[in-house]
Amino acid sequence: MAMPNMLSAPKPDKLRALGIVALNGMFDDMDAVGVLRYAATEVLPGDLAVVSSFGADSAVLLHVVAQVDPSIPVFFLETGKHFAETLEYVETLKRHLGLINVSAVLPDPSDLARFDPDGTLWETDPDSCCHIRKTEPLEPITARFGGWVTGRKRFQTAERGVLPHFELTSDDRIKVNPLAYFSDADVNQYKIDHGLPEHKLFAKGYKSIGCAPCTSAVAEGEDPRAGRWRGLNKKECGIHFDFNGAIANPMNPPAAPQTLFKDGAFIADPFSPWSEGDDPALARYKHVPLPVFVANRAAFLANPHPLGLLVVPGDKVEDAADDLGRFASVAVLFPAFTDGRGYSTARMVAERYRFAGEIRAVGDVLQDQIPLMRRCGINALVVTHEPTRQALVENRLPEVDIFYQPVGQGEIPVGTRPYLRRVS
Ligand code: SF4
Repeated sequence: MAMPNMLSAPKPDKLRALGIVALNGMFDDMDAVGVLRYAATEVLPGDLAVVSSFGADSAVLLHVVAQVDPSIPVFFLETGKHFAETLEYVETLKRHLGLINVSAVLPDPSDLARFDPDGTLWETDPDSCCHIRKTEPLEPITARFGGWVTGRKRFQTAERGVLPHFELTSDDRIKVNPLAYFSDADVNQYKIDHGLPEHKLFAKGYKSIGCAPCTSAVAEGEDPRAGRWRGLNKKECGIHFDFNGAIANPMNPPAAPQTLFKDGAFIADPFSPWSEGDDPALARYKHVPLPVFVANRAAFLANPHPLGLLVVPGDKVEDAADDLGRFASVAVLFPAFTDGRGYSTARMVAERYRFAGEIRAVGDVLQDQIPLMRRCGINALVVTHEPTRQALVENRLPEVDIFYQPVGQGEIPVGTRPYLRRVS
């Protein structure tokens, strides 16, 4: 499957200027193809994509997509846990509908090796399983596009009863819901009218189809989604961008700005700080202070959930050197602009211990420090300083090409011959 290489940042001004409410008024009576065609040609040309589960209802939305433009990118979350029938259905629909831009989005193999080595995380911690198999792989993809097409419909849940055709999300992207006004009967009629192939499990009672371990058939009259995570207090997969869950209400005030900058965009941060009272054996998505980790090492190593490590000036990262592979993220604190100890810590983690996961800078992260942080192996930033946030969004960072303390390969220190001082 091809993976498109289109990089596209959100365009807040453009999206706001569109007036989402006005757009919704325009399309209340328009058919699904008309809604999507307008979105794809007038609102976000070349900047619109689809995430599809290739489940029981997916054929209708994908047929609408194929009518408008079969080259619109379609992303399939290949969690590694799908039914064989679903993988077969991906190929069936691609062929039948003529979709030419379907890509599989795969989990990070190092995350799987670290957090789900035997493939049973779904049993003990389905939220974390969904996070490493769906949410994390999808985040860098969502950052590329200004708009997303979903297959959600008003009839599906009470909350979706007011679902509009267009939504503005809190991170300034547009969600397009061409099927918002479809009833259950409309969906079935559409499949018949257009001769769409069914998922093979649909006839066996699977009305909503996700990963095999977390999906069961439903009885006649049961909620179609009752077979998802049956018996667990879990209804949605927790994808940050919310393809399946709550409606992004453009009338709500925007949520607090996201502060984690990674892979070229501000994204949702799955981690939160360690709190007093957190349980070393059960905590998840916490940055554990290094002394707390050292004092409770056995419990943390037995903890199956994703965790991060927080290293502050004065901590000895050597004390956790043998266990760095247990962490998904190492947060290095820069308490003040004038305190450079974080650079040495980051270099040690990246270069000496060859930590391959996320190394994030936290604390006083300012624009002028960022090139130096990146040289030291930092690949994620938590930024609250507004001018620095703007500089990152607009890709305006100072260039540094003369180094007093060269790192890695190819940097020439000040004091050598002038013509060698610049990085090649
Ligand atoms: S649906 Fe189940 S198997 Fe699939 S990612 Fe979520 S918890 Fe894991």
